[in-house]
Amino acid sequence: MLTGATLQERRRCPACGAGTERAVHGCGTRTVRVGGVPGLGNDAVNVLCGAVGALAGGAAALLAARTG
Ligand SMILES: [Zn+2]
Repeated sequence: MLTGATLQERRRCPACGAGTERAVHGCGTRTVRVGGVPGLGNDAVNVLCGAVGALAGGAAALLAARTG
């Protein structure tokens, strides 16, 4: 199952080798993307998951209305 964590952009600081979500690491080095969807940060993931959750809820309600 796809989760926000799967889609979220993953970055790594080439200087420290540390994983991060930031475009620039705390040490001042620009990080490189190592996975996930480019530009998809934590906020975008939250919005996306909220939208998916709302759709799933709507579909469930629709199914319940049909069967009930
Ligand atoms: Zn660093």
